[in-house]
Parts: sequence; C-alpha cells; structure tokens
Amino acid sequence: MKAYTNLSQIMTLEAAHKKDGRMLQPDDLSIINDGAVVFDESTIHWVGATKDLPANYRGIPKFKLDHHVLTPELVDSHTHIVFGGDRAQEYSDRLNGTPYEEIAKRGGGILFTMKETLNLEAEKLFEMACERIQRVNSYGIGTIEIKSGYGLSFTKEKELSLIIDRLKKHFSPKIQIFNTYLAAHDVPRSFSSSSEYLNQVVLPLLKDLAPRKIIDAVDIFHEKNYFSSDDVSNLFSLAQDLQIGIKIHADELNTNGGAEIATSFKALSADHLLKVSDTGIAALASSNTVATLLPGTAFFLGKNLAPGRKMLDQGVKIAIASDYNPGSCHCDNLLLIASMSAAQLKINQAELWCGITLNAAHSLGKTDQGVIKVGMKPRFSLFNVESLAHITYNWGRNFSVSLP
Ligand SMILES: [Zn+2]
Repeated sequence: MKAYTNLSQIMTLEAAHKKDGRMLQPDDLSIINDGAVVFDESTIHWVGATKDLPANYRGIPKFKLDHHVLTPELVDSHTHIVFGGDRAQEYSDRLNGTPYEEIAKRGGGILFTMKETLNLEAEKLFEMACERIQRVNSYGIGTIEIKSGYGLSFTKEKELSLIIDRLKKHFSPKIQIFNTYLAAHDVPRSFSSSSEYLNQVVLPLLKDLAPRKIIDAVDIFHEKNYFSSDDVSNLFSLAQDLQIGIKIHADELNTNGGAEIATSFKALSADHLLKVSDTGIAALASSNTVATLLPGTAFFLGKNLAPGRKMLDQGVKIAIASDYNPGSCHCDNLLLIASMSAAQLKINQAELWCGITLNAAHSLGKTDQGVIKVGMKPRFSLFNVESLAHITYNWGRNFSVSLP
C-alpha cells in the first residue's frame, strides 16, 4: 500500500464514469485540488483532498507530488505499431503533388509496408516495436492496442500475432498491450477476391490461433474494394463463436453501413467514421459500441475530420486514438493529436480527456480502469505541470513523468 499526496490536481473522471462517458459537461472532469490517492498493486483504496487523508493511512509510504497532475492512465486504443520500413519518401511525394494512384503503381502504399515487413525477421520486428512502444509510453500512455495486418499471409500474419503476444508479456504489467487480429487489412494481389483470402487465410488462421488465447479482438478493413459486408459478417460470427472481441475500420472512405454492422455484432468499437451516416450515428448512440475517432489520420491525409460534435450531441460514446502507422498517420503522440483536434472537433475538456482515458479503455473492454475511484485498478498517468489545462494548452510538449 502507498499514497501519492499533495498533487496540484487529480482528474478523477468520477462524474464522467457515472454518465458512462456520454453527454459530458466540463465539470465531469471531477478535479480534486491538492489531492491524494491511496492504492496497492491491484486496487485504489481512497481518493480525496490531502488534508482529509484518513488517520489509518498515515503510516504508509507517501510520495509528495506537489506541482504535478495525476489522471487516469492514457490509453491509445488504435495503433499499427508492428511494421517494417517507412514511407517518408511517399509522404514527401504526396505533398509534392504525386497522386496516390501513381504512388500505388510504383509499388507504394500498404503493399510497400507489407514487402518491408516480410523482409524482416521476427526478432527485428520485435525490437523495432519495443522501441516504438517505449516512446509511446514516454508520453504517459500505459495501455496500447496493437493490430497485426502487414503480413497478409498465413505464416507472416501468424508471426505478427505472436510478436504482439510477446510484446504483451515483455511489457506487462507496466504497459498493458491489447492484441488485435487484423489479417483482414487488405487483400493481397495473389487472391482473386476478398472472400477467397478470407476463407483461405483470415478465418483458418484465427481458428489456429484461438486455442492459444492470445487474441483479444478481431478487426477488419470494411471498405469498397477491400472487404464486403458479407466478409465482415463471416469474420464477426466466427469471433463471436470463439468469444473474441470485435472491432472494425468503418465508414472511412465511403458511407457503407460500417457503424450499423458494428452495433449489430455488439462490437467493442467502430473506428474512423469520417463518412458515418445518420442511421449509423443513431445506432452507435443506442449501443455500447465506442466510436473511435482518429483525427491524426485525417490531418495527415488532408481530409475533413469525422463529425465528432454531431455524434457526441446524440449520446455516442467517443474515444480518440492515434492510428499510429507508417502510411496514413506516422504520429505516435496521442495527447498531441487529441489536443490539436479538440478545437476542430468542437469538444470540451471532459470529452477530450474521457476520449483518451475512460472511453478508450472501454473500447478495449477494460471497464476496471479509466477512472480514479475506490475499487478501480490503479492505472495512472502523471504530469509535471501545475494544472490539467496547461497540458492541452501546450500541445505537443511532453509533461509526462514516471510514476514513483
Ligand atoms: Zn487503423
């Protein structure tokens, strides 16, 4: 048992938690000034003002953290961290006016990352991912979702899922990793159709991996010329049978009912949603499926952001994630992305912070964290700054420090 005391502020999100992370007002941050928290390895035992710390906790080890702010742990709930190569030249070419079709014709795009990933051995991919995870963690992010999906063959996808599992064990318990199976990321050119690839690789490999109990969720790129609604239903039905969580890349390039399919399968989250329809928004609002916005990707590609305000006003539960990947958002700093997009998305501070803590944790099925409250897991982020407002105000600057 130990205590952090004299914190300038603790953002507990207790009110936001009571409202299930929806319809939030600025006060729902539930800030305690000059706060203290008592916890052991697994549970929070007390939280309040330092002056009110009960006498029975007086003897436990205390860490005086004045001039620091404590928040529920930051969660990046959508990343593609395991990949080979980079696409810096491709990004420059795009900025310089080369159309994406031309880049794809030259062998750029996701197929380039696939080739570079295939060229690297498991050990090297593991090492590169370790470095990236440590950098992500240096911003205060302690729970990270990682998707496979640059292997696109039975053997290489299996290797990627096993690498993510190895990363999970390597970093536990300091960093929690969530292993998402995204073999259905794109259709390799050697297959004549998406359903052929799904039936020959995606579904059989999921069945092969399931007994190991290492996959936390499946995911699929549901877009025209990628995977159809039938493909999505086939994958999700199998995931349900195997009791594995469900996530989806939905309504990013086209309005095609991705949000609606997600809710009908009780998905943990539907992600992207730039082109989500009104019926999709209504379906999300009346479900427990979290809508994950990835504004960094829209910035990187020069697109308009998802209709975040509209979704929030209808009661959708919103998370914000980085989408850190080599092609469409090469940015690993979730707090930068969330702070930078807040004004564009027209979201208040409670919606912003809840989106990268409580709701992001819920989008990974982790309902025992994301709020600093008695009985919850003691997963925190600590910032060397006077107030919460200063963190988002200084977007891009890193105030995160290690927990004592
Ligand atoms: Zn993605």
